[in-house]
Amino acid sequence: MNQARKESVRPGAASAPRILIVEDESDLALLLGYNLESEGYVVENVARGDEAELRLAENAPDLVILDWMLPGVSGLEICRRLRAREATRTLPVIMVTARGEEAERVRGLSVGADDYVVKPFSVPELMARVRALLRRSRPERIAERLYAGDLDLDRETRRVRRGVRDIHLGPTEFRLLEYLLEKPGRVFSRAQLLDAVWGQAAEIDERTVDVHVGRLRKALSRGRERDPIRTVRGAGYAFDETFGKV
Ligand code: CA
Repeated sequence: MNQARKESVRPGAASAPRILIVEDESDLALLLGYNLESEGYVVENVARGDEAELRLAENAPDLVILDWMLPGVSGLEICRRLRAREATRTLPVIMVTARGEEAERVRGLSVGADDYVVKPFSVPELMARVRALLRRSRPERIAERLYAGDLDLDRETRRVRRGVRDIHLGPTEFRLLEYLLEKPGRVFSRAQLLDAVWGQAAEIDERTVDVHVGRLRKALSRGRERDPIRTVRGAGYAFDETFGKV
């Protein structure tokens, strides 16, 4: 199955990263393609290993999501060959497989896959891994600026502006805003925000999140302008997806 390429570039992105999905389960390939495109990536699908090799030899994408069990050439073999070629030695590869045994995981990583997910996996989890891997390998290909309404966050200069006003945020508030702004409308629990912003190892009380959200709100709206952050009782926080649209 060859899906037509579709461009959907985030505002501010220099150019959207291209992702090749090599997966013979068409439902899963479509689901992944849909989710990746909605995040602004340019997606191409191929269903066979030998087809994937041809595609990869023509024009390397920015990242490959590679199923292990494929008709033609196996994902494992493709990964091994990618690593043997100079042009694709560092191309980010996420292996996907139905096999969950530790030995298989080790085998996948030993042929040079950067990451590994086992079916069935959660799509948001895979999206997060794609983002993390791209940010590590090609930081310039990830949107440097995030916008909503009159709010503008520049990841490169670490500046946040609201209209013409510069907003000065501490590093924690900056990361918090960046994270919420990446997924407008999505509600994150305090535990999710702690993991994402403070890191999984952090042993911090969930109320700390409330304190920093409070500081962020104060800096963003100074009590007069519209507050872009929504508190969802019993659930957590979200960046208001209607902000700047009403
Ligand atoms: Ca398969």
